[in-house]
Amino acid sequence: MEERFACQGYSERFVPRGRVCTFCIMDESDPEIAFDAAGRCSDCITAASKRPAWMALPVERSPSFDDTIRRLRKRRSREGFDVMIGLSGGLDSSYALICAAEAGLKILAMHCDTGWNSRQSVANIESLCNRFSVPLETTVIDWDAMRDVQRAFFRSGVPNCDIPQDHAIAATVNRAAAKFGIRSFLSGGNWAGESILPAAWGHDAQDHVHLRAIWRQFGDWSKAKCFPRHGVFQKRIWQPYVRGVTVWRILNDLRFNPLEAERRLRNEFGWQDYGGKHCESVFTRVFQAIYLPMRFRIDKRRAHLSSLVVSGLMTRDDAMRHASEPPMSQDQAERDVAYLCEKLRITATEWCDLVASPPRTHESYATGQVERRLSRFARRYIEPRMQIRRNW
Ligand SMILES: [Zn+2]
Repeated sequence: MEERFACQGYSERFVPRGRVCTFCIMDESDPEIAFDAAGRCSDCITAASKRPAWMALPVERSPSFDDTIRRLRKRRSREGFDVMIGLSGGLDSSYALICAAEAGLKILAMHCDTGWNSRQSVANIESLCNRFSVPLETTVIDWDAMRDVQRAFFRSGVPNCDIPQDHAIAATVNRAAAKFGIRSFLSGGNWAGESILPAAWGHDAQDHVHLRAIWRQFGDWSKAKCFPRHGVFQKRIWQPYVRGVTVWRILNDLRFNPLEAERRLRNEFGWQDYGGKHCESVFTRVFQAIYLPMRFRIDKRRAHLSSLVVSGLMTRDDAMRHASEPPMSQDQAERDVAYLCEKLRITATEWCDLVASPPRTHESYATGQVERRLSRFARRYIEPRMQIRRNW
């Protein structure tokens, strides 16, 4: 272990930046944020407008819930599966699995091991699959390639260094679905806890052009032959319009409360906490709780907590209180960074240089313009004709 890593001043990184919304707790760490006359921000106004319409009714689940279950059963694969779910061991996908299994769907679970599983997430995946007799397919990503591309993203200076993991997981799950003839995906994505995520904090993880541009410039692109990849074309055109793949965000059709779901998972299923949203991967924990606040002054919890405020599951005061506490102590941050650097073979000096150097935007590198236009075209002209419903 080399001397102390660059986490000095860590706990001071969690104060609001500039103006704060009067309704949620979003601030000017979102460079595209705007405020109305009452001081309410564009992030929470947009999020509120996307609330699923049925939630205004005095019912516990969407009126279309049973109909969706019937449709999924009709599309059962030749192997006898109704849906496939990518299981990370995190709260949302774990709870989506439980709800679908309780609704009687035949599920195939898929887990992609990117080399960063926390002990708790592995235990969560195994116990849930055993409990509901759900078969589990696990794919292990080539570690040499994963390390090289993750290091390349850190060196590029862009905010979303989680693109390699997200890309590999999506490509792997899609391949497995094609192999098993499954055309319906179950997703843990949900409005209640995730309605706010500023576009400026990230970039489409399925953008293969972008992945290649950064990997080529800052790493060894020849390792990409061992890395599962797919393009926006496959994801946005081939999958939905040629293969007829649909995604059902089941938690948007239920009155989902992430805080209650966590209690239920813990009490009834022995589910173990791993400390924070999306922190089931050790990489994601360091990236979100340390790297983003240290280098970009971005605290993703601010968006997650604001989403809970918008869905009425948390008061603004409570959200403020949570956000003002650092996610971990400085000592823990230093230990986590030391672990990450050792695994990625980054030296202490390089980490300090990375954190201190000026950030770059995703637009500083090539992005998949043609594929994006194609995807927009499909959404506008092909989708309405095929009467594809976005949420299932
Ligand atoms: Zn707001």
